[in-house]
Amino acid sequence: MKIVGQKDVKLDKAFMEEVAKRSGENVFLCYQCRKCASGCPSRMFMDSTPTELMRYVQLGMVDEAMKTNTIWYCLSCQTCSARCPQDIDIAHVVDTIRILVQEKGIKADTKNMRLFNRLWMNILKYAGRMYELALTGMLNVFTGRPFKDMSLGIKMMRKGKLKLLPSIRKPFAMMKMFSRAKRLKK
Ligand code: SF4
Ligand code: SF4
Repeated sequence: MKIVGQKDVKLDKAFMEEVAKRSGENVFLCYQCRKCASGCPSRMFMDSTPTELMRYVQLGMVDEAMKTNTIWYCLSCQTCSARCPQDIDIAHVVDTIRILVQEKGIKADTKNMRLFNRLWMNILKYAGRMYELALTGMLNVFTGRPFKDMSLGIKMMRKGKLKLLPSIRKPFAMMKMFSRAKRLKK
């Protein structure tokens, strides 16, 4: 179904049902109080607030939900989920949309956020925890700016804020979790 206003908006009932089913969250309980958006630390970078994202899902506005940079700037910090008076795990809804977007191969104008997300997940998988130096280094190399923020990185290392080597304790534990999640998904 399409509604016609200043631009055509595609409404897709199957999308709203899929997000609700896969996230296990009742997105229809959201009454747009905006508590999630007002506490979101990434809000200033997002082109739609978490509250708006919830409305897109409720209405089945698939293009708006999947192409917004909101899902890529979300830090999964859970602040929104903790603040929601309706007990909706909004961070999980965001995660679900992020997975759907990748499964469907949808391209969005999110600059380097998809690359960042992929690098983040791979480092987590193989190192078991975040290794910031590798993350920023690889991001800079893959985006063609290998020396970006180098002087800042050196300063941070001198102050002990950035570690030269990763601290890996159980190298295979996270890999096992990833494999198990993959098996369960099948
Ligand atoms: S805090 Fe909960 S009820 Fe309020 S707008 Fe966000 S999702 Fe909706
Ligand atoms: S989980 Fe994401 S959307 Fe929710 S408050 Fe944190 S950054 Fe914002």
